[in-house]
Amino acid sequence: MNTLTLVTGAHAEVLNRKALPIALPFSDTLCSLLDEMVEKMRKEKGIGLAAPQVGISQRMCVIELDGVVSKYINPEITSRSQEKIFFEEGCLSLPGEFFPIERHEEITLKYWNEKGLPKRIRARGLLAIVLQHEIDHLDGILICKRYQRQKSKEGKIYGRIVE
Ligand SMILES: [Zn+2]
Repeated sequence: MNTLTLVTGAHAEVLNRKALPIALPFSDTLCSLLDEMVEKMRKEKGIGLAAPQVGISQRMCVIELDGVVSKYINPEITSRSQEKIFFEEGCLSLPGEFFPIERHEEITLKYWNEKGLPKRIRARGLLAIVLQHEIDHLDGILICKRYQRQKSKEGKIYGRIVE
């Protein structure tokens, strides 16, 4: 049974705190927690979910795009493209609110999979956008804060997503 509960609201402490890295080796409990996060993300109709959104201040997130589920432990962006794109972003932690957010079109990401193996991927477009949104969650940055910080407030919108 899924016992995870969504934390909502711009001022929730766990959503504004930097989450802690997860130590190797990864436990079975961690793997089942990731599975529960996937279930929760589907139930709430999001395409991404980071652990702080269910009240767990640890650096991990799950994403489902085009029917493909991916799980990221201790993700870290190692390079970012100059090119940026705008998406209208919504967040399961801020129901009903949308912000035009500008992000890098392409990133390189280092992370660990649930088997404890280090991975490196190049992500572009939608996957790159969702990863940047989830990693912001791990750093305690909600889209309302990201929007306040960004210099350009609007641009051509490529799509609308909730994560
Ligand atoms: Zn979010």
